[in-house]
Amino acid sequence: MNNKLYGNLIFELSREGRRGYSLPKNRFGDYEIPQLIQRKKEPELPECDELTVVRHYTNLSGNNFGVDNGFYPLGSCTMKYNPCIDEEVAALPAFQNLHPLQPADSVRGAEAVCTLLKQSLCELTGMKAFTLRPFAGAHGELVGLMIIRAYHESRGDERRLKVIVPDSAHGTNPASAAVCGLEVVEVKSLDDGTIDTTHLRTLVEEQGEEIAAMMMTNPNTLGLFEKRIPEIAEMIHGCGGLLYYDGANFNPMLGVCRPGDMGFDVMHLNLHKTFSTPHGGGGP
Ligand SMILES: *Cc1c(COP(=O)(O)O)cnc(C)c1O
Repeated sequence: MNNKLYGNLIFELSREGRRGYSLPKNRFGDYEIPQLIQRKKEPELPECDELTVVRHYTNLSGNNFGVDNGFYPLGSCTMKYNPCIDEEVAALPAFQNLHPLQPADSVRGAEAVCTLLKQSLCELTGMKAFTLRPFAGAHGELVGLMIIRAYHESRGDERRLKVIVPDSAHGTNPASAAVCGLEVVEVKSLDDGTIDTTHLRTLVEEQGEEIAAMMMTNPNTLGLFEKRIPEIAEMIHGCGGLLYYDGANFNPMLGVCRPGDMGFDVMHLNLHKTFSTPHGGGGP
């Protein structure tokens, strides 16, 4: 689509006196906006007719890239692709019309759904508790790392400010660690794409007392199942660190094995990738 046809900015399309809307008649009588909060100057808004507005925004939407118009690798995964049926369920009036400040006893149905979901996730992952507060995978990583930081601090172990992240990791892992005020230490992969445990052992021997956690994805971002998790868990726990499981690729392990049983302490799940469309629309 040729965006230039309509200009790039809605302001460039503005023509004095054009209108793109017509408001319905006010049914509630006149209301004078108090002087105190009235504008001193007219707002600088573009003046466009409706057709120009519709064309402009339709053209802009054509600049979005998604699974329906091309291959989509990593990045912004939450927004990649949700099957329409999921959107329909999320839009059920009993969910959509809830108010965050509604009295708890008027939302028992939604509460029951959340409780059942948390219990099911504990059962599937081998974890003891879940929170549904984070809105996306990266948000979950940040919450998990904050929990890990708080855990070490609660024990007076304040030197643990490093996080080991494999060189194959998703970009959000080092980003979340940095946002959480932690330093990233990279562990190499072997030629076969799995973690180099000899390199990991060296890192743990040299920096063990400063290691807060190691983050891992399994199957990893190359789609390979990391077989040496028990050995890795032993090394990380041995130096006093915690093992974090990035659950973005949990889909192929679902019902087969559980991160909690493998020695992972903290994790997030990308519910959309695990229970909707597997990672990247193509699956891990
Ligand atoms: C998708 C993904 C994330 C981030 O998830 P968002 O929901 O997009 O924030 C983190 N780690 C891995 C391995 C991922 O694939």
